[in-house]
Amino acid sequence: MNILFFGPNGSGKGTQGALLKKKFGLAHIESGAIFREHIGGGSELGKKAKVFIDRGDLVPDEITIPMVLETLKSKGANGWLLDGFPRNTAQARKLWEEIQKACLKLDYVVEIALPRDIAKKRILGRRLCKNDNNHPNNVQIEAIKPVNGKCRVCGGELSARSDDLDGQAVDKRHDIYYDEENGTLAAARFFKRLAEQGETNYIELNGEGDIQAIMDKLLAALE
Ligand SMILES: [Zn+2]
Repeated sequence: MNILFFGPNGSGKGTQGALLKKKFGLAHIESGAIFREHIGGGSELGKKAKVFIDRGDLVPDEITIPMVLETLKSKGANGWLLDGFPRNTAQARKLWEEIQKACLKLDYVVEIALPRDIAKKRILGRRLCKNDNNHPNNVQIEAIKPVNGKCRVCGGELSARSDDLDGQAVDKRHDIYYDEENGTLAAARFFKRLAEQGETNYIELNGEGDIQAIMDKLLAALE
């Protein structure tokens, strides 16, 4: 099963992706990791990308798209979950063309929808446990609220992640995601139209519920 995943930072997309990965044995392919692997591994595409990154420039689509495709083909033989790419309509269109050229299937496109103000609150509400990064604590989410200011799992000390506390950094990421004309949501709409033409399946989930309820809905929709 091949899935393309959309959702803003703060929507719980990472958690849902990890659960899907475990349940179906999918390769969870995240855009940042694609860059790190190609550049760290010194591939031809990685070398080209590094020139742009070192200059502080965006890596052009002519390099990014083949990198994504190569990773889907090399790691995703048993199914993949692509997360964090594409981020605009041009990338979406090119990715779709290349997926077809490579005879890959795109079985589902999943969007976790969440109002921007709630997504931001959730990001700023995240707390890290000093004993275990995987202990979920969030002062904005009832189900995983810290207990008396301490980790709800182990009672450890909590701290806020510095990048999470930076409201401006959150806004910058969300400016790209929530842009329905030129941003990530525009890319999602591109795939929604493809689904209307019967080319793929589009699953839209309300991200306001709790993690398990959203997962249950997602699994039911994937049957
Ligand atoms: Zn803990």
